[in-house]
Amino acid sequence: MNDMIPYGRQDITDADIEAVVKVLQSDFITQGPTTAAFEQAIANYCHVEHAVAVNSATSALHLACLALGLKQGQWLWTSPITFVASANCALYCGAQIDFVDINTNTGNLCPIALESKLIQAERVGRLPKIVVPVHLGGQPCEMDKIKALSERFGFHIIEDASHAIGAKYRQKPVGNCRYSDITVFSFHPVKLITTAEGGVATTQNPAIADKMLRLRSHGITRDVERMTHKPDGPWYYQQQDLGFNYRMSDLHAALGLSQLKRLDEYVFIRSELARLYDEMLIGLPLTSLMQHQDTNSAWHLYIIRLSAKINQDGHRQIFTAMRDENIGVNLHYIPVHLQPYYQNLGFKVNDFPKAEEYYSQALSLPLHPGLTPNMQNKVVKTLGAAIQRYSS
Ligand SMILES: *Cc1c(COP(=O)(O)O)cnc(C)c1O
Repeated sequence: MNDMIPYGRQDITDADIEAVVKVLQSDFITQGPTTAAFEQAIANYCHVEHAVAVNSATSALHLACLALGLKQGQWLWTSPITFVASANCALYCGAQIDFVDINTNTGNLCPIALESKLIQAERVGRLPKIVVPVHLGGQPCEMDKIKALSERFGFHIIEDASHAIGAKYRQKPVGNCRYSDITVFSFHPVKLITTAEGGVATTQNPAIADKMLRLRSHGITRDVERMTHKPDGPWYYQQQDLGFNYRMSDLHAALGLSQLKRLDEYVFIRSELARLYDEMLIGLPLTSLMQHQDTNSAWHLYIIRLSAKINQDGHRQIFTAMRDENIGVNLHYIPVHLQPYYQNLGFKVNDFPKAEEYYSQALSLPLHPGLTPNMQNKVVKTLGAAIQRYSS
């Protein structure tokens, strides 16, 4: 009865298990036909031409940056309210990282802040090569505005949609790349669907897809048409770039393919649970992240912000009180620029004040398809009591 209510949890069915076992009994357990089928299924789902499966979203972000040619001396900008991987991908390429502050209401990268930072950057000749909008909690960013800025200032866009497979922007699936060069999904177990570990990058651009396919497997091609000279013999393969082993295995792909069938159902359940939270939380001194009219969130997370009247100490105590009652609240995210590694790069407290204010107020409530109305009641009751106790 007093089990932890986790903030997120994978849902594994008998069909998922059977799908994985079937691959185990087949000839291919590393990357093979099931990975190709998973890629095709994701491409179909997202209404996009190309999908490249890899062993994590982190790898997908790295390959996306390389495929867009990110190099030393160039800049990548992202939101400070994200998982560190959205920023680390720039550093893997030897590039420079900077951040754009968030929109207070949605927690997403703010297009107005982006525009003014771009105008300043243009003056000093430091425009970014790539901007990475992150769809926080599953709600797409204001992609029309970011896309318009990319045309005006000439940067590439990688959508970090780790939270947002199944989300829609203007009624169209995230991942279709109408507003970006590449979109990246994560299939870590807490995300919408899982492959245990895994990620996918989607794109409409065949050259970018080719490059990512090659780089995920050592930069090697076996495709005669793409070779720089005639093969020496039928055994021949050719390394054309310095790539990696970022392959997804067919075991992982089988799990993903089976899970994908339930994605729409999951998103529906999550959005219903979110709606229930909206109703149950009325009257408490907090706000839920605002949902923009152009978006249908995938509801990876249900994030609330405590009222500004509750100080940082109260925020910490409320978080602890929830955990003490076995409610797996979480905090998405510690602003990346406040991490010691990033402080060593020169970022300082107060560099991105809206992100830091958000950090002092945010709380992710448990949200996953296994959450019952009873559990939701307990979450809200415990939260209400904790707020009463710890708001001064
Ligand atoms: C989970 C996550 C990642 C990294 O995903 P992995 O598949 O674990 O590498 C990147 N960005 C965001 C926003 C995430 O939530």
